[in-house]
Amino acid sequence: MNLEEYKGVYVYAQQVDGTLSGIAFELLGKAKDLASDLKTDVTAVLIGSDVKGLADELAAYGADKVIVVDDPELKDYRTEPYTHALASVINEYKPEIMLVGATAIGRDLGPRVSARVATGLTADCTQLEIGDFPLNPMPGKEQKHNQLLMTRPAFGGNTIATIACPDNRPQMATVRPGVMQKIDKIDGAKAEVIEYNPGFTPDNKYVEIIDIVKSVSETVDIMDAKILVSGGRGVGSPENFKLLEDLAEAIGGEVSCSRAVVDNGWKPKDLQVGQTGKTVRPQVYFAIGISGAIQHVAGMEESDLIIAINKDETAPIFEVADYGIVGDLNKILPQLTEQIKAAVA
Ligand code: FAD
Repeated sequence: MNLEEYKGVYVYAQQVDGTLSGIAFELLGKAKDLASDLKTDVTAVLIGSDVKGLADELAAYGADKVIVVDDPELKDYRTEPYTHALASVINEYKPEIMLVGATAIGRDLGPRVSARVATGLTADCTQLEIGDFPLNPMPGKEQKHNQLLMTRPAFGGNTIATIACPDNRPQMATVRPGVMQKIDKIDGAKAEVIEYNPGFTPDNKYVEIIDIVKSVSETVDIMDAKILVSGGRGVGSPENFKLLEDLAEAIGGEVSCSRAVVDNGWKPKDLQVGQTGKTVRPQVYFAIGISGAIQHVAGMEESDLIIAINKDETAPIFEVADYGIVGDLNKILPQLTEQIKAAVA
């Protein structure tokens, strides 16, 4: 493998039903930073059927080029034809870096593609940067520059690992939704659009989709909320979440929770914040009856303002909180909600 042939930062621009997923814009934002460090450009890879019209939107969020693989076989996501499409793009255009969202689709697609193009993949990254590897080389061992340093929690979140892929290309990573930030939209931006079709030969490896049943969620996406009122095991019972719902209603927020709450069956999994839940960045995050375990904090520490309510003054949540209230949530919440209601009335 001649590493010098591989150039540019590529992003898999996930779309579903002809709508680009938020992760595509987040990855473009990060790709722009990496490309500027490497003095190269950003390419979005758009795969689907009848999707060419999405190229301008990708340009508006930072893509310099868009490679479009458009084929009727690609109408709905299926592992085999999408893997063939992305692996073929990589073999043809030789990117130095290939980023994929750690969504349900990306977690299926990324590892298969990496195996097919014979490179490594770091899954579920929370940080990406360009740097030297290894940081402190052993005597006689070469230090390589301009490597993609991919950071992710490891061993159940008890340690943070930084991983590089120095001997193969592309350097591939999946990235958790909600971690990277998209750039402000540049209206009217245009990208160079390249149409590429490696050809698709349906065979018995192709899954036939008979019906798609979409799960209908009654809850809002907590990743979009400006204010989150998050409850933990300390709330005590599913019924007691009423106190949090009242506060959320008074301030125009949404309710979310810790994993302990999901494990207890008090709230559905799509409200869980943290390493195995969602990564959120609201303007205000209330952590109520939440101890502040590292796996929870990993999903909310980037919030603009964190307010913690906990009866234990030594709870680790106070280390990341901007404001802390030590006391019983059953006493504090009704008063807080009343005060807020009175203030806005
Ligand atoms: P607890 O740790 O039990 O804390 C309850 C808190 O409530 C305590 O601090 C207590 O002082 C306080 N409290 C009790 N009663 C009151 C009261 N009346 N008033 C005020 N405060 C009160 N966790 C997540 O949240 N998200 C994840 O994505 C996640 N992923 C994980 C992944 C792995 C691989 C592992 C191993 C763990 C993961 N966890 C995750 C679990 C995590 O380690 C903690 O167990 C969990 O976050 C604890 O939830 P909690 O803070 O609600 O409960």
